[in-house]
Amino acid sequence: MYFVLPKSTPMRLIIIFTCIISLTASAQRITAIKCGQLLDVRTGILNKNVTILVKGNTIEMISQPGAMVKIKADTVIDLSEYTVMPGLIDCHTHVLLQGDITAEDYDVQVLKESVPYRTIRAVNSCSIALQNGFTTIRDLGTEGAGYADVDLKKAINRGIIPGPRMFVSTLAINTTGHYPLSESTYAWELKMPKGLAEITGADEGRRVVREQIAHGADWIKIYADRGYTKLADGSYRSIPNFTTEEIMAIGDETIRSRRKLAAHAVTRDGILAAINAGATSIEHGFGMDDECIQLMVQKNVYWCPTIYVNDYVAEGRAKAGSPINKYFSETEPALFKKATTAGVKIAYGTDIGGYDWHEPQSKDFEFMVQYGYSPLQAIQTATINAAGLLGQPLLGEIKTGNLADMIAIKGDPTKDIKLLGNVQWVMKDGVVYKTGN
Ligand SMILES: [Zn+2]
Repeated sequence: MYFVLPKSTPMRLIIIFTCIISLTASAQRITAIKCGQLLDVRTGILNKNVTILVKGNTIEMISQPGAMVKIKADTVIDLSEYTVMPGLIDCHTHVLLQGDITAEDYDVQVLKESVPYRTIRAVNSCSIALQNGFTTIRDLGTEGAGYADVDLKKAINRGIIPGPRMFVSTLAINTTGHYPLSESTYAWELKMPKGLAEITGADEGRRVVREQIAHGADWIKIYADRGYTKLADGSYRSIPNFTTEEIMAIGDETIRSRRKLAAHAVTRDGILAAINAGATSIEHGFGMDDECIQLMVQKNVYWCPTIYVNDYVAEGRAKAGSPINKYFSETEPALFKKATTAGVKIAYGTDIGGYDWHEPQSKDFEFMVQYGYSPLQAIQTATINAAGLLGQPLLGEIKTGNLADMIAIKGDPTKDIKLLGNVQWVMKDGVVYKTGN
């Protein structure tokens, strides 16, 4: 059966036709999505009255704006009151963490919650991410929950639980003695569980990378520095966690295995070492300097600035006697401007899980606009830029042949970035997971 959808189709967020035509058992279902506006995230152009045809999990066709479209579909979804845009991508999450603002929050999860219990909680985190409009995430470390991220990804891909498309990094890597749980805060006779894999020596670095890839890691995550300080001249320094041999071995093993390296690196001591070892993204990077910026532009390294999480913890930690996050918050607006003006590419990354999953996942958009980005540039960080970082050309953009990951919101997000905190409709892989609030 054919439908003709005039522009004046009643505007309600409902599925208006279902299973009208009969298909052979093997044929893929076709869904027509009638968009009030479709956002082109490359240009910022909002095309009015566009119909998208989705076949299975793929975008099959996009109509010309305003055209009367003759379509043949199993289902028609009326989003004529909404702005449709690509599903969002968060390049820095921790689905297996439920907020660790203090060291104690972290220790409690690692010591008192079994990995199965933490995985049950993570099922909920995955669902929240999808409901927030994030159809893809790069999860950067299970923080003591072993390879449970690989299981979550598997369960999502098999349709057992709802969740975003996941790229996982499994345990993450640091050097011996530099990550919680810290031996010094517990009785020394105890062998404390660790929030990641610890290595000493280049060979151990290679072994751990190989182990993690064998278990299903899409990315390798390292913690490149620690012990952040602000010097009298206003610059930041830290202690590099790895020897040059260690970090180069990890980078080499990662790249030779066709994986990518994500580096938690806050100041030049971690950032330069990580980039030289082949890192594709710098996580946090609050204390980067001009040399880091230059090298990031030169080597096309992305920055996941995780702005909200730093701001979220800054005041409380300052009151508890640790003001470094507050300093980062104060210098971040100018740094963001300088780095982006120089040409550093930003990929959206929140570090959610480091803060509670019930807190917003869209706050970084607002901070970026506050720091000088246009709403469209902020949107690009979670769409085309994020897809670029992930090396996933079929994501981040609504175009023919891409995967059918899209969201709908009321209003124009290129005028009001806060609207991204109120995603009304979510489709991932051609399946609808949210239909209105
Ligand atoms: Zn993190």
